[in-house]
Amino acid sequence: IPWRDFDEVGYIGATALRHGEDKYKRNKFNQQASDHLKCDRSIPDTRNSLQTWDVSRLPATSVIVTYHNEARSTLLRTVVSVLTKSPPSLIQDIILVDDFSDNAEDGQLLAKIEKVRVLRNNQREGLMRSRIKGADAATAPVLTFLDSHVECNKHWLEPLLERIADDRTAVVSPIIDVINMDNFEYVGASADLRGGFDWNLVFKWDYMTAEERRRRSSNPIVPIATPMIAGGLFSMDKSYFNQLGKYDTAMDVWGGENLEISFRVWQCGGRLEIIPCSRVGHVFRKQHPYTFPGGSGNVFTRNTRRAAEVWMDDYKEYYYAAVPSARMVPFGDIEDRLEIRRRNQCKPFSWYLENVYPELRVPGKEAVSFGSIKQGNGQCIDTLGHVLNGNVGLYECHDAGGNQEFSMNKEMQIRHQELCFTAGEGSREGSVVKLMHCDVNNILQKFEQNKSQLRLFKSMYCLDSSHEQETGIVLSKCNHSRTQQWRFTMGES
Ligand code: UDP
Ligand code: MN
Repeated sequence: IPWRDFDEVGYIGATALRHGEDKYKRNKFNQQASDHLKCDRSIPDTRNSLQTWDVSRLPATSVIVTYHNEARSTLLRTVVSVLTKSPPSLIQDIILVDDFSDNAEDGQLLAKIEKVRVLRNNQREGLMRSRIKGADAATAPVLTFLDSHVECNKHWLEPLLERIADDRTAVVSPIIDVINMDNFEYVGASADLRGGFDWNLVFKWDYMTAEERRRRSSNPIVPIATPMIAGGLFSMDKSYFNQLGKYDTAMDVWGGENLEISFRVWQCGGRLEIIPCSRVGHVFRKQHPYTFPGGSGNVFTRNTRRAAEVWMDDYKEYYYAAVPSARMVPFGDIEDRLEIRRRNQCKPFSWYLENVYPELRVPGKEAVSFGSIKQGNGQCIDTLGHVLNGNVGLYECHDAGGNQEFSMNKEMQIRHQELCFTAGEGSREGSVVKLMHCDVNNILQKFEQNKSQLRLFKSMYCLDSSHEQETGIVLSKCNHSRTQQWRFTMGES
């Protein structure tokens, strides 16, 4: 049946919130706000510039949506938005892969809608194996993966397919607009972002430089090359997906697969791009609503390690320096993934860093030591979230990089990102150490490692934590006390 004849009210009503039930409990977003919206509600057209296409020359796509216990209202809106916002000739089918949700009817009922096919796992597989199952069942030449709580916007599909028609090795994402998890308001996202990561290998959005933004403003429809894709929403030529090794079937549940496919596509000769004329909204939320068989930390780390071990060559050491606890999580056998890398004659990670993500600072390049700066068993120097002009203190080591990630370079600077430890009030007793812009000529930013002391160059003062509670880390006359003993987790010290 066409979706307009679908019993939206009955479908959603059957799983309505019970009286007094926490609106966030099942989905970690406000289910009530979602349930109250019509499945074909209108959303603002958030495109910055408009374009037209010759639909007759575009390939059709199979849309693949995997889900585990998705709210019915968001799942239905995902499907309906695909049907209403795409030229019908370009949608071959919509393949829902039910990853063993508690209620099989969530999907079965939707199979009545035109073009919708439903496959159900008989055990929880996770999103990677579920997507592969959907991809294997797809009959169209292009695969389009979507999360189960999205809304496609006007003409979202044509620019994605056009790019793939021009270049089958382009793997393309829309700009991902924000559907507010509390009130379901649809808000346009910035067109000046691309995907990246730090050495902890957690996905983040990077702002383009001012220079790039200027360059783009004169030609805003040009695809944005992105080092990393967010992961949930993208289109890819089906034969290219298969040639490059689909996904890593040994990854479970969620996480790390976007890292893996990003390295793989770039290193094996393809491109990852954000197509600015394509907009799809996604419900971003703060927690996962579903269980993680095996524990969320372990599963995420295992998946990430598999990506790092296959694709990052020796650069994986920076990941282990940033997240030392990862070493303890077994990652299993990766031989078949290494074989994919060999078979496709993929480039080394150093090529990726130089050509795709030069903005990622490589600590080892100028660093003598890096990682976290530890004292005793479990205390680490931490920026405590302070930025320029802030002091630093001690915090329990969390081995996750971030505020505890430092490096010491050949210029003798102790750096945190673009900031350097600086003897704030000069070279004297009690001088507070501050985070200031790095300046190789600033003598108050030069430190030397002397056994386990960190001594301000040409002075008799050492980094000392004895007044940490009151003022943070300070300089104090070098002595043998425990409060002056430091050790970088990686490198020479
Ligand atoms: N998903 C799945 N099986 C799982 C975990 C997740 O099919 O074991 C689906 C989930 O329903 C969603 C997609 O994978 O459609 C991505 O998950 P999620 O939206 O939780 O990730 P996020 O967008 O928060 O990164
Ligand atoms: Mn999602």
